[in-house]
Amino acid sequence: MTDVNAQLLPGQLAELVTLFERGRVAVLTGAGMSTDSGIPDYRGAGTPPRTPMNIAQFTDDPHYRQRFWAGARIGENRMSVVEPNAGHRALARLEAAGHIDGVITQNVDGLHARGGARNVVELHGGGGIMRCIQCGERWTRTEVLGWFDTLNPGYAERNADAEIAPDGDALVSEVESVRVPLCPGCGGTLRPDVVYFGETVPLPVFAAAADIVERSSALLVAGSSLAVNTGMRLVHKTERQGNPLAVINRGPTAVDSRPSLAVRIDAGTSETLTALADALGA
Ligand SMILES: [Zn+2]
Repeated sequence: MTDVNAQLLPGQLAELVTLFERGRVAVLTGAGMSTDSGIPDYRGAGTPPRTPMNIAQFTDDPHYRQRFWAGARIGENRMSVVEPNAGHRALARLEAAGHIDGVITQNVDGLHARGGARNVVELHGGGGIMRCIQCGERWTRTEVLGWFDTLNPGYAERNADAEIAPDGDALVSEVESVRVPLCPGCGGTLRPDVVYFGETVPLPVFAAAADIVERSSALLVAGSSLAVNTGMRLVHKTERQGNPLAVINRGPTAVDSRPSLAVRIDAGTSETLTALADALGA
């Protein structure tokens, strides 16, 4: 059972500081990193199980695409108020002070860069970018939402009061009439530039993450239960290098019984990373 009130213990902080004093640490972050920014963690405590988005729905089902764009349009105003939290800023401080080389993240929310991190490897891409399935051209989500507004005049205003589900889906009734924006270059289908369930992380992206691990003397996992395969590949790489793991996560993770686990902190990432950056004078 996850204890959402779990506290950071002083002894654990000292262990983490010691790990950072040994050399540069690679950092891998997951959904738990962004919960203090108001983005729900579907694998965390008290949240219902969720079916991961499947790219086949996106490519094969026009109704699904209509629902996606309706939700994106109505959810946009809510997402625009999301801000990086103290944990994102603490990692940026650790990077600036040379304790970490950058941040590897499973999140698609873009909050590490907005929180000041300079070298960010987004394993699953960025939700703020859309890509044409046919020709590969990319646009910002904001740009494409502008096209949506042109195609669907008055839509956002008419549905401004629609309820937003915890997974960000808008519970809109006006879906059948939605006109979906297409690629202005080739007329192709636009999709979020993120790695969906069943898709693989692009090779250059994984290579950039592996490089950070290669140059580091430990791997710190922050806010992830490591249910995602790519995260485990970075764990295995760390172990092959003979380096230790540290984990900050509320609730159990896939590496809790591994011999390489040197530090295990069951507490929030915001308070733990802030305390770490403070202790290191970053
Ligand atoms: Zn195209």
